[in-house]
Amino acid sequence: METDLFIAGKWVPASSGNRFDVLDPATGDVVASVADGGESDAIAAVDAAAEAGPAWAATPPRVRSEALRRAWELMTERADDLAKLISLENGKALVDAKGEVTYAAEFFRWFAEEAVRGAGELNTAPSGANRILVTRQPVGVCVLVTPWNFPAAMATRKIGPALAAGCTVVLKPASDTPLTALAMAAILAEAGVPSGVVNVLPSRSSGKTVGRMLKDPRVRKLSFTGSTEVGRILLAQAAEGVINTSMELGGNAPFVVFADADLDAAIEGAMIAKMRNGGEACTAANRFYVEASVAADFSQRLASRMSQLKVGPGTDESTQVGPLVNEDTVAKVDSLVQGALESGAKAETGGSRPEGAGFYYPPTVLTGVAPDAAILREEIFGPVAPIVTFTGEDEAVRLANDTEYGLVAYVYTGDLARGLRVSERIEAGMVGLNRGLVSDPAAPFGGVKQSGIGREGGHEGLLEYLESKYIAVNW
Ligand code: ADP
Repeated sequence: METDLFIAGKWVPASSGNRFDVLDPATGDVVASVADGGESDAIAAVDAAAEAGPAWAATPPRVRSEALRRAWELMTERADDLAKLISLENGKALVDAKGEVTYAAEFFRWFAEEAVRGAGELNTAPSGANRILVTRQPVGVCVLVTPWNFPAAMATRKIGPALAAGCTVVLKPASDTPLTALAMAAILAEAGVPSGVVNVLPSRSSGKTVGRMLKDPRVRKLSFTGSTEVGRILLAQAAEGVINTSMELGGNAPFVVFADADLDAAIEGAMIAKMRNGGEACTAANRFYVEASVAADFSQRLASRMSQLKVGPGTDESTQVGPLVNEDTVAKVDSLVQGALESGAKAETGGSRPEGAGFYYPPTVLTGVAPDAAILREEIFGPVAPIVTFTGEDEAVRLANDTEYGLVAYVYTGDLARGLRVSERIEAGMVGLNRGLVSDPAAPFGGVKQSGIGREGGHEGLLEYLESKYIAVNW
């Protein structure tokens, strides 16, 4: 297990010599100590990325593609070990961690395929005076900042397209989960990615290290996944240097069930949309809006399914729901639940924090939630499903859109025309229509409103790392 910084192809301690602890969320015990990068390490990482930049940009796309393809193969071969590592530092159930490894590796395969598709355009000017030639060039050095909820996938979703485009990167992983990011760096090096193209800088002082890198004029792009709160700070910092940004921020996904929906399918979808990753996903269903005539049935069935889930250490094969990542997360989930209960909601299952070690929270279903409850406004990031009833399409759309977020929405209905109509009216970057999972490396992932700017995955994900250069030509 690598625990040092990865800069210019070498494992190095922090220049300060400082290290920080990584905890096992199932016990709160220390599992590793990792080098704590500071500002001078951040600059060393940018130096390495800037130095490696021109040669990597000039590397044939097919060669870049094959390195990514090899990284996909290596991740796939080592899926079990990587899943254990993810589970160890993040806490998620192994079944979720295995799902994450497949999803994460798939970004390398997808962008291996996209690396050879950075085509430009050629047109004749409307006046006929000249040709308009558009070529695509890599943006340059990218700073990638990732969260702890998908320690592998959030890294590969950024590294894959950056490398495919010919960019070099410094990745700053979340300090709760740096081990997986370091494992990704080792795999990329083994896959043939040259020294300096990928640098990984675990750091507990992320405000300082990321802030320092964003002040460096050699850094041309920031790709961030995390909270809207931190995203706002980083957007302001990026504005100083007019740095290109891709921001994947918070979500507050509505899960809308119309009375004409197939309720069996809606329950299956709800279990995935709510419980994938134990609810620690920006795509997690955060607010359930169920048409009044089927609400009691839906709530009882969801509560029954949720209460049967096996909660335990993520690394135990039979666990379905692991602990949350840390104490702050459990405390926040519990305060949202207690707030809802105090304002009149009823816990159909779960609803209070268990005694004992580890950062556990039980799967919880709340009914009768007051429309102004904080749990409907804030991202829960835990295994809690608050249910609210509605009547008719207009009310469903109004409730779904009553948030500053707009990442994803889920809609269940047996009427396809209604489903498409409502999907168009909902303010979100993505909609799951009769489906509880939208994430796919081949599709553009991202949000509107305060859920972010830009898209990751699909062909758009590659374009985020390319600049268009227009050459006016006479020939
Ligand atoms: P979460 O902890 O829910 O994943 P955050 O937005 O707090 O979401 O963190 C996402 C990433 O941003 C993490 O890598 C974290 O270390 C980093 N981060 C947090 N605060 C700052 C900051 N002020 N400047 C730069 N990066 C930050």
